[in-house]
Amino acid sequence: MSENLKPTTDHRPPVTGIKASAEDFIPLSVPSIQGNEWKYIKECLDTNWVSSVGSFVDRFESELAGYVDQKYAVAMSNGTAALHIALLVAGVQPGDEVIVPALTFVSPANTIKYVGAHPVFMDVEPDYLQIDPQKLADFIELECSWQDGDLRNSQTGRRIAAIIPVDLLGHPVDMTPIADLAKKYNFKIIEDATESLGAKYQGKHVGSLADIACFSFNGNKIITTGGGGMLVTDNKEYADKARYLSTQAKDDPVEYLHNEMGYNYRMTNLLAAMGCAQLENLDSYVAKKHCIAAAYDKIFSDIPGIRIPLQAEWAESTYWLYTVLVDREKYGMGSRELLNSLAEEKIQSRPLWHPINTLPYFKDYQSYKVEHAYQLYNDGLSIPCSVDLTEQNQQRVINAITSNLC
Ligand SMILES: *Cc1c(COP(=O)(O)O)cnc(C)c1O
Repeated sequence: MSENLKPTTDHRPPVTGIKASAEDFIPLSVPSIQGNEWKYIKECLDTNWVSSVGSFVDRFESELAGYVDQKYAVAMSNGTAALHIALLVAGVQPGDEVIVPALTFVSPANTIKYVGAHPVFMDVEPDYLQIDPQKLADFIELECSWQDGDLRNSQTGRRIAAIIPVDLLGHPVDMTPIADLAKKYNFKIIEDATESLGAKYQGKHVGSLADIACFSFNGNKIITTGGGGMLVTDNKEYADKARYLSTQAKDDPVEYLHNEMGYNYRMTNLLAAMGCAQLENLDSYVAKKHCIAAAYDKIFSDIPGIRIPLQAEWAESTYWLYTVLVDREKYGMGSRELLNSLAEEKIQSRPLWHPINTLPYFKDYQSYKVEHAYQLYNDGLSIPCSVDLTEQNQQRVINAITSNLC
């Protein structure tokens, strides 16, 4: 990259909300911008192709589809928009039910509400923190019935139309048992792969495991466009419908004829340009995350009360966020006290998400045997793992965590 394209100062804000006033602040996870971002974005500016069509949009779509081994990709304004469109395209109707894990960022559950459907909250398993396929099977076999080609929740009588398994924190869900159930009981799988681009399940990329999958390029994800998303699928009808709905459902762009209500969920060429540059570095980012995780694992494996993030034998995690579980008894303090003690050392950390089935606007919906999500919310803490985390700063995090031991 030519020098004059590079900014002279680092304008990157910490994306997770704490102002990095001090030089020695260590953020949780911030973007790494070290490739062709300036070059490609300048190309957009130079050619006036800044808006919602352009060669970078096409290129980002085809390169991402290729990366995750799917035929089609539709770029969107963010990951939430992609999930919203995915539910519409999959045929989820108002009054249907959609299963979602209780432990996740809230976005997928909100999109279920956007389409007028109802979430059913499923527990996660305690090893890899992913939606629990055994509990899912129990729910379907024991709490649902098969009526005229539809799976219905016996308690509510509503049709179970889909599930949104979330590949949480960079680790894939155990998709095979979920796919078997979906096939047997005729519901759709929309994979929320927003946190786990680059991860693999039994050798296959996340994003290739479902009817439709969604990615996010928000500032804290493994690659970023500042804000952006992508829907991927092997199904041409889904892809065409997704493109139609996300571009205002224009049936005649000259006469402005719309036969359906669409959305303005497009990604701009400017952002796609950044996405293309980021994607070129994705594999090196994943490799860097693996190094960071390995260095933490090595030390923390021997620390009583700190459980390192586990990786299933069928999984290749990206360790998007490196999340430890803190056992108050054995470690001597709980996760929130550790958060505070790290903050004193200017080290940012973050708990897992408040189980979303307890959020005020979700509390009246059905939860199925949610237990582990609460414990994990109590114990979980994500610690700094930016791609550009230096060895020296990682050592500071390690020292801060080990020095709490008596
Ligand atoms: C980040 C994230 C999203 C949404 O992505 P945005 O681009 O921020 O809309 C959806 N689901 C999960 C699990 C996420 O972590």
